[in-house]
Amino acid sequence: MIKIQNYINGELIEPNSGLYLDNINPATGKKYALTPDSDYSDIEIATRSAKLAKKDWADKSLDFRFEILMKIADIIKRDQDKLALAESIDNGKPLSLAKLVDIPRAISNFQFFATAIKHFDSKSHEMPGEAINYTLKKPLGVVACISPWNLLLYSFTWKIAPALAAGNCVVAKPSEITPMTAFLLSKICIEASLPKGVLNIVHGLGNKVGTAISEQKEIKAISFTGGTETGRQIASIAAPLFKKLSLELGGKNPNIIFADCDYEEMMQVTLKSSFANQGQICLCGSRIFVEKALYNKFKTDFVKRTKELIVGNPLEKHTNIGAIVSKEHLNKIMSYIDLAKKEGGEILCGGYKVNLKGENKDGFFISPTIIEGLNFNCQTNREEIFGPVVTIMPFETEEEVLNYANSTNYGLSATLWTDSSSRIHRFTNHLEAGIIWVNSWLLRDLRTPFGGVKDSGIGREGGFHALEFFTETKNICIKY
Ligand code: NDP
Repeated sequence: MIKIQNYINGELIEPNSGLYLDNINPATGKKYALTPDSDYSDIEIATRSAKLAKKDWADKSLDFRFEILMKIADIIKRDQDKLALAESIDNGKPLSLAKLVDIPRAISNFQFFATAIKHFDSKSHEMPGEAINYTLKKPLGVVACISPWNLLLYSFTWKIAPALAAGNCVVAKPSEITPMTAFLLSKICIEASLPKGVLNIVHGLGNKVGTAISEQKEIKAISFTGGTETGRQIASIAAPLFKKLSLELGGKNPNIIFADCDYEEMMQVTLKSSFANQGQICLCGSRIFVEKALYNKFKTDFVKRTKELIVGNPLEKHTNIGAIVSKEHLNKIMSYIDLAKKEGGEILCGGYKVNLKGENKDGFFISPTIIEGLNFNCQTNREEIFGPVVTIMPFETEEEVLNYANSTNYGLSATLWTDSSSRIHRFTNHLEAGIIWVNSWLLRDLRTPFGGVKDSGIGREGGFHALEFFTETKNICIKY
């Protein structure tokens, strides 16, 4: 049984309580590791060690920080097969996906921000004959990074890398549901000789460890990715303490398909944007709107192609759909499928738990599900399901589908399929979303701003936006 440890002040240590939580492999339903059940006292120690390290780290040259972050990236690259396997076992995602997306992205995150900090500049303003102003971007000191379970190492490093690059010391918490690759990252940081206390990773439950993080006065900023309700709870504690907040929250993203699109390209990408990672990506397009002229053809082909997706052991090469991350989450998804039926939805395919054989017989699997016949405004179409479940709905006019697309409280991302450039400009201008893909999905340039509007969050990650977030701006005015 693997015993995960906290990484505090450069060392791997037990939680103060000595207590551990079970870590379950979702593809087998069996316990395979133990996660520290840390508490307030562990967070206090982690914050203290970050505080002690902060001056030294902030004073390190950009070259020094660059070298260390690149070394971490190199070790992740060296260990990528091992990390991909760990992520797949911990999360239930297909190993092929972890190899293709999760781990390469963790490498890119460190490489990108190691380099970006060398190009991050600030301004100076002259008042002719009077004075000169120059503006500095200083590290905040101690900051926190809290990540969800769906793309663990991917989203964890997306926060940690810019925070460290900008010269901050970090207290980080991965989801207790998928702690393994964060634990392996601790070991990598030790091997890369990251100075003690610069990064501290504390494992445990959100309502204990996460709350303790929000309450620490010394922590000056929190970068959080997770559910909208959790974001609200964090903000309610952190805002009165005047912490900076970056909140990347939930989504209920529209996938809008016009009849003039490149049909085959759209179909291939829509299968991914619906069901990749078992639909457990905040950017998945779970509400699919199809122009009436194309609707019946789309429906027939989409159902056929979805039925061909293989639900299976995540470690098998041909598996398209792996396990749902936990039994609790599986039950939540199934309850939404029941709700959809009650609301008058017709299940065109899927809608049931899949019982695999052998070592996967107790795993958590759901057949990819397509639902038709629901009103755009019903509960199923307003709330985030975060599973392999999509609804399809026809539309006739641009005005109508724009209204459908913007009808939820969320505004994270949107996907638009059309060949008309004038429609692209008209439409993207009015879509209420922070990230819009046209004739593509999940095509990412790490320099671009990433984040949502409405209940999908506040702030932007990515490129210099992340470095802005993790720094404090200070202006100095010198009179001539
Ligand atoms: P949660 O909000 O439940 O958890 C996210 C993280 O916050 C976990 O580490 C969790 O710990 C921790 N946490 C839980 N409660 C608290 C608290 N009171 N204070 C501080 N931290 C807390 O989200 P999920 O892990 O279930 O992830 C799914 C959600 O994340 C979806 O809503 C999805 O849309 C969203 N998401 C958003 C993305 C974006 O970029 N906008 C990207 C990916 C996901 P623990 O798990 O140990 O309880």
